[in-house]
Amino acid sequence: MERKPSRPVQILLYIGLALGLVLLLRLAFGGLTGSGERMQAKRAAETDKIDVMNLAFMQRAIELAEQNIRQGGGPFAAVIVKDGRIVAETGNTVTKSLDPTAHAEVNAIREACRRLQTFELSGCEIYSSCEPCPMCMAAIYWARLDKLYFAATRQDAAAAGFDDDFLYKEVPLACGERSLPCVNIMADEGKQPFAAWARYEEKIPY
Ligand SMILES: [Zn+2]
Repeated sequence: MERKPSRPVQILLYIGLALGLVLLLRLAFGGLTGSGERMQAKRAAETDKIDVMNLAFMQRAIELAEQNIRQGGGPFAAVIVKDGRIVAETGNTVTKSLDPTAHAEVNAIREACRRLQTFELSGCEIYSSCEPCPMCMAAIYWARLDKLYFAATRQDAAAAGFDDDFLYKEVPLACGERSLPCVNIMADEGKQPFAAWARYEEKIPY
């Protein structure tokens, strides 16, 4: 015949269960904290990994940005590096080339792609004298660059009279909330090029 555990034994069992549960929770959360700490340690290690070459490439970008002012451009420059060698370095040429998109990073991406005869720059890293504006940040993503280093921040650029920080605030806004009037029309017809792209067998995906 099965005997029910006595009351004190039952209480001990409950305490045991509760302790087990606490231990499990601690393990779970401890594990999470541990992975958070590991992430931080990884990031710290990444920062530690900044070596003399990283600093030299950034120094080059900063020097070029300063030189660029005297050459009629804005106070920005970017350097693109592949396998430890500079493949493109340019300043901002907006006013000189009458091109509002001729930011340093865009210019550098164009130059690197021309030199390497490619439309994507995986395997390359970009050094920008200043945190890229949203256009350049997107261009860096489009170009599939491996990594971005920047020196001055968007706030430094704003203090110097540039719109970078303002644009970062505008971009996430919904269409009607932006300072730029922005109207969605012919949305269905607008899908036609995508249908044509999907049908086109000789496309080069990017
Ligand atoms: Zn830019």
